[in-house]
Amino acid sequence: LQAAAWRNVRADFPVLHQQVNGKPLVYLDNGATSQKPRAVIDALVRYYERDNSNVHRGLHTLSMRATDAYEGARTRLARFINAADPAEILFTRGTTESINLVARSWGHAHLKPGDVVLTTEFEHHSNLVPWQQAAKAAGATLKYVPLLGADGEGGLDLAALDTLLTPQVKLFAFTHISNTLGTINPVAELCRRARAVGAVTVIDAAQSIGHVPLDVQQIGCDFLAFSGHKMCGPTGIGVLYGRRALLDKLAPDETGGGMVVQVTYEGATWKPAPERFEAGTPNVADAIALGAACDYLDALGREQIAAHDDRLVRVAMEKLSALPGIRIIGPRAGAERSGLVSFAFEGVHAHDVVTFADEDGIALRGGHHCNQPLMRKLGLTSTTRASFYLYNTEAEIDRLVASLARIQKFFAG
Ligand code: PMP
Repeated sequence: LQAAAWRNVRADFPVLHQQVNGKPLVYLDNGATSQKPRAVIDALVRYYERDNSNVHRGLHTLSMRATDAYEGARTRLARFINAADPAEILFTRGTTESINLVARSWGHAHLKPGDVVLTTEFEHHSNLVPWQQAAKAAGATLKYVPLLGADGEGGLDLAALDTLLTPQVKLFAFTHISNTLGTINPVAELCRRARAVGAVTVIDAAQSIGHVPLDVQQIGCDFLAFSGHKMCGPTGIGVLYGRRALLDKLAPDETGGGMVVQVTYEGATWKPAPERFEAGTPNVADAIALGAACDYLDALGREQIAAHDDRLVRVAMEKLSALPGIRIIGPRAGAERSGLVSFAFEGVHAHDVVTFADEDGIALRGGHHCNQPLMRKLGLTSTTRASFYLYNTEAEIDRLVASLARIQKFFAG
């Protein structure tokens, strides 16, 4: 079954079949957002053509159909990450909103002066700035687990974690996979160690969801955040997973329709999770299409997707390392890393690399990748990033290498 699903994988993605600047598109910006298969686009169209209606409050047929499909998507997402209960799946706009929800709701209720919030030196701004804000608001301190190696090749300093993880640490927030370095963190171990001092854990799974198998019960996290658009789903939809015991005690961040039991002129009472955290009309269509993305990815197999990413990144590392003047950051060639490679090009700004590659029909990303403090630590202002997904091929890596060689020649001459 899986082999059949893989056979024609590129044909599933309409957007890939176009020319950019007269060349066949090579899309290597999957770390920013992934492309969408026909099955996901069809789910959106089908919903709007047949079932569109508001959920939860209606008794008519379309409203019941929309509600069933929306709640069915929640159950599908729960199964996708092996949550124990669909009520642990909160639909949000994406990773950023999910993390902000925890930082505001949980942070407001639990953080006080003298407390410590722990994070790492290589977080995306979305898993950094909300904690700066929460710590500031509470008079708590934000501390960082260091990154090892001049090029960030050593990963998290786990020995330093021993000294940093004190009983003062109330929350530990970390990424599963770094969007700039490609580092894969030992998330289950980090959760285990945080639990030993009573700290709540928050995982940023933006780069891992849809790329590697992910099981929240096996990882043992309290919260986990991700975006639909990086896993073949639509933009504007994402998930906050929260352990039921924690969600039940958490106050809502936003209030309004759909999340209340009783309202008087004096006050209101809240429904349980998930409704308590989904005030207003939810993003029904995109949630349903995200469920379709789960089906699509599981038909291919996440083990197989991870193996495919891994094969491509190994080839890319080997070929890029052979080019002079390229400094690759993150785990070394041969070491475990996710399917992305970030590099600095001696004498050429990342924005020039991206612009030149675009002339060759290749989509890359150049800049600080929402990792400004990390860039500063590595002594860089920006890097160029090629990030792979299930539809990329080795032939596309050859196109990338040829383009980089052309850029190098241009700037050397
Ligand atoms: N964390 C990481 C590691 C990311 O790569 C991204 C997206 N670049 C985010 C958080 C934020 O995701 P979104 O913009 O979809 O909220």
